[in-house]
Amino acid sequence: MAKLIDGKAIAAQIKDECREKVAKMKSEGVEVTLAVIQVGNDPASTVYVGNKKKACEYIGIRSLAYELPEETTESELLELITELNGRKDVNGILVQLPLPGHIDEEKVLDAIDSRKDVDGFHPQNVGALCIGKPGFVSCTPAGIIQLLKRSGVEIAGKECVVIGRSNIVGKPMALLLLRENGTVTVAHSKTKDLREVTKRADILVAAVGKPKMITADYVKEGAVVIDVGIHRNENNKLCGDVDFESVEPICSAITPVPGGVGPMTIAMLMNNCVESVALQQ
Ligand code: NDP
Repeated sequence: MAKLIDGKAIAAQIKDECREKVAKMKSEGVEVTLAVIQVGNDPASTVYVGNKKKACEYIGIRSLAYELPEETTESELLELITELNGRKDVNGILVQLPLPGHIDEEKVLDAIDSRKDVDGFHPQNVGALCIGKPGFVSCTPAGIIQLLKRSGVEIAGKECVVIGRSNIVGKPMALLLLRENGTVTVAHSKTKDLREVTKRADILVAAVGKPKMITADYVKEGAVVIDVGIHRNENNKLCGDVDFESVEPICSAITPVPGGVGPMTIAMLMNNCVESVALQQ
C-alpha cells in the first residue's frame, strides 16, 4: 500500500512555522502586510480570498482587502496597484484571478512590483527562478517541493516527469525539480506516447487538468505520484488528475485529493509573505 502524503498536516506545519516567524518579527517591531485585490464577485474567488484572509489572521499577517466592483476599469485597477507598490507598509500584493474579461490579466500582473509579487507570477520572478536567483516562486509548485522534502522523498538524480506546462504550475514545477537536481521531462498535449514517458518517472507530477486521466498504466511501480488536479466529479465530490483507486496500489507514495497539494498553495503564499520582508530589505 502506498504512503499517503498528508498535505493538510504539512501545510499546518508550515503555517505554524510562519506564525512563529511573524511573532518574532512583531516583537522586533516589524509587521507583515498582504494586500488582496478581488474584482467582481465570482463565488469561487470569494471562497479563495476568504481562505487567504483566514490564513493571514491565524499567522498574524495584517491583510488589506480590496473588494472592487465588476465594472472596475483596467486603469483604475492599475492605479490601485501603483499606489500599493509605493506603500512602505505593504509587503505583498495579490490579485485574485480570474479577472473580468475587459481587464488584461498579464498587464495587471506585470504591474505589480516584483518585490511584492507573493504569487510569484511576475516575469522578473519567473526569470529569477530560471537562473537560480532569489525571488518569489509560484505557490503550488513550491508547495509540492515541500511535500516531497518533508515526506523524505529524495529528488536528486531521480527521473521526474511533469505533465503540463502552464506558467503557474507545470513550468515552475519543472524548474524547481531541476533546481533540486532531478532529471526532468515536461510532457504536454503534443507529447507522443505519453504513457511511455510517464512510465519512466520515479516522481510523477500530474498537472494536466483532466479528471482521473492518469490511470495505473501511466505509472511505474514504486513511483511517487503528485496529483495537482482539482475537479468535481458527477457526484459533486472532489477528484484529481490521477485515478487514485487504480494508481494507489502500485505506487510508493501519493497525494490524495482533497488533502494533498491543495492546502499547500495557501501555506506557501503565507511563507512568501513572510519572506517578502527580507527580500524587500
Ligand atoms: P492548464 O490547463 O493551464 O494546463 C494544463 C496542461 O496540461 C497544459 O500544458 C496542456 O498541454 C497539458 N495537457 C492537456 N491535455 C493533455 C493531454 N491529454 N496529455 C498531456 N498533456 C495534456 O492547467 P493548470 O496548470 O493551471 O492546472 C492543472 C491542474 O491543476 C488543474 O486541474 C487545476 O485545477 C489544478 N490546479 C490546482 C492547484 C492547487 O492548488 N492544487 C493550483 C493550480 C492548478 P498544452 O500546453 O500543450 O496545452
